[in-house]
Amino acid sequence: MPGFELFGESEKSQVQQVLDTGVLMRYGFDGMRNNQWKALELEKALASRMGTKHAQLVSSGTAALTVALVSAGVGAGDEVLVPTFTFVASFESILAIGAVPILVDVDDTLTLDPIAVEKAITPRTKVVMPVHMCGSMADLKALKNICTKYNLLLVEDACQAIGGSYDGKPLGSYGDLGCFSFDYVKTITCGEGGAIITDTDEYLKNADHYSDHGHDHVGKDRGAETHPFLGYNFRISELNAAVGCAQLQRLDEFLEIQKKHYTILRKSIEPLSGVTFRRVPIGGVENYSFLSFFLPRQEVAEQVNLALSNAGVDACFYWFDNNWHYYRKWDHLTNLTSLGKLPQEVIQQLPDYSKADFSKSDEWIGRTISCLIKLSWTEEQVHNRAQKMRTVLSKFL
Ligand SMILES: *Cc1c(COP(=O)(O)O)cnc(C)c1O
Repeated sequence: MPGFELFGESEKSQVQQVLDTGVLMRYGFDGMRNNQWKALELEKALASRMGTKHAQLVSSGTAALTVALVSAGVGAGDEVLVPTFTFVASFESILAIGAVPILVDVDDTLTLDPIAVEKAITPRTKVVMPVHMCGSMADLKALKNICTKYNLLLVEDACQAIGGSYDGKPLGSYGDLGCFSFDYVKTITCGEGGAIITDTDEYLKNADHYSDHGHDHVGKDRGAETHPFLGYNFRISELNAAVGCAQLQRLDEFLEIQKKHYTILRKSIEPLSGVTFRRVPIGGVENYSFLSFFLPRQEVAEQVNLALSNAGVDACFYWFDNNWHYYRKWDHLTNLTSLGKLPQEVIQQLPDYSKADFSKSDEWIGRTISCLIKLSWTEEQVHNRAQKMRTVLSKFL
């Protein structure tokens, strides 16, 4: 997945152009900047690549989720449905605005189970937020139908699946709003950064203002701009955006490499009986950043995970025991351990997750292993790895 593996001349040259003018901020300083607007340039390129009307850059993927929710009018006490298998950023972005994260089971797509989503809807539900984990997507058509039926927003977290598609549309562009992360370990990186994409003018305007203290960005004098509503600072810097300008141009090259490596590994273990693969919804194309597969039982998955690591097959993950990606270890959320006082809405409405039954998620995640697909492997390394994976797996099947 990580674009940082292929950090090269085009990234350096983009950053150098920013350093040459010395204008590190995305707004203002028109006289000094030599007509160079890296953040704007990246927003245009991203919207064009994703086929959306708009893109708004922000400082991180977590900020993108927060700003996307705020831009669509989500606030205190609103319930947002998120999967049990995700990154902690999902509930952080929701809690940050006083809204309430409602965890929902995942199925064999390793993303939101549409049946569980419909069951979790209450009169307070505002948003369904699928997270396209490990390069593949949720059943977006089913989720969109639910959103239409109950008048809910569909906000896609495509942070781990940039470049994948569903029903011919780039992931992130199918819902009302889509979010990307460009942190250091994502498929393409800015160092730190994130983006929101949308076709809705109003959301774009809100995101633009909100992520810069409420500035309306009218005229040429920042100090004289007005503030139609309260905002915050989630700005990206020109330096980070410059790295992204180079990386976005290489996205399709990265996807091709990922697909090639993924296919070699998959073909090597596919014939083994007992290995099955995560379900990709019909009409979906992965971005191939991970190869995720199921083993017949939880104990087997645990043993295989250990054996892979002992055999030197690195970068494979057993999410069931992971501190950051699966609900079982989120005791800080379960216990609402926070530095300061939380909003009443959150305290009153957050379900008691210590008593929750997510056995349906456990059935899938307990048997899942995901192996990261690296860009920097040589062909020989990929084939070696494929051989090793097959040898290790066949010992347990
Ligand atoms: C990385 C990631 C985020 C958050 O991105 P940051 O840029 O690190 O804040 C959100 N959701 C998912 C699924 C991610 O993988």
